[in-house]
Amino acid sequence: MRRGIRWYVTGNLMVVGAILGAVLFWQAVEAPHRPVESGAETPATPTPDSTMPALSAQADSPLPTATSTPESTKAPPTPPTAVAGAQLVPPSSQLTVRVPILMYHRIDRLPANPDALRVSLSIAPADFDSQVHFLKERGFTSLTLTEVYEALQGKRTLPPKPVALTFDDGYADNYANAFPILKKYGFLGTFFVLTDVAGTGEYMSWDQLEEMAAAGMKIEVHGRAHLDVSRMTTGQVASQVQGARDAIRARLGVESRFYSYPSGKYNESVIDVVKTSGFLAAVTVNYGSDHTLQKAFELKRVRIDGRESFAVFARKVGENP
Ligand SMILES: [Zn+2]
Repeated sequence: MRRGIRWYVTGNLMVVGAILGAVLFWQAVEAPHRPVESGAETPATPTPDSTMPALSAQADSPLPTATSTPESTKAPPTPPTAVAGAQLVPPSSQLTVRVPILMYHRIDRLPANPDALRVSLSIAPADFDSQVHFLKERGFTSLTLTEVYEALQGKRTLPPKPVALTFDDGYADNYANAFPILKKYGFLGTFFVLTDVAGTGEYMSWDQLEEMAAAGMKIEVHGRAHLDVSRMTTGQVASQVQGARDAIRARLGVESRFYSYPSGKYNESVIDVVKTSGFLAAVTVNYGSDHTLQKAFELKRVRIDGRESFAVFARKVGENP
């Protein structure tokens, strides 16, 4: 009988020991994967979207708004199973970098009787000044797309509030109105130009682009002309993207590495041509601020629309107005 009790006690101790052991093992396995503040993985502390961490592994939220759900309300992590360890560390290609890449077109006052598209594409110079001033005041740092790309590669730590300002089509008002405002606040801009029309009609001249490049602005490729490359043969696409890249190199002596799909139209075959033409990444008109290296040729952007209020702009960059 005494032997029976001893075995009963010993048996219970073994069960308790096994549970303790399992808990300690789980902590040991789990601990290295707990993210650190500056790390690339899921933020350890609940992070409301409004703080816009530069690096996070959050699911891509469609739009950082004031009403977005904070991390803290999400379901607790599922306890790991015996084989879960392998799933806890995302490969580096899945590193998610959060940078709002703002998409502008015209920075100009509206003509008389503008159509809806013109209104949508135009930001008044005074409004653009207010927006950049706001970004400056709130502590944003403007990045080049090279810096965004290096962050995607895990080679660069980004500042707390990164932002990239991009301008499509190369309108002359970009030189006349956007360029002085960017310089005034010490911000960088990336200009996607159309090389066949540069210097004609309403587009910036090569001299103006040269002056902007010398001041640190980035001149990148939107194409030779504003054409739908998703409906072209691979040879025609290559002519558009490589031809434009060659023209920028010949005229300005700079190597363009980023491409903006005209009207945001692309497909897998277009991506292949852009990749093999020496580009590092490409921007779309798909909405979002979270990027991965795997989707470097489908970088999302945040369209700034001339019809929207200042409060909407503030929320688009993750700030309260
Ligand atoms: Zn365009």
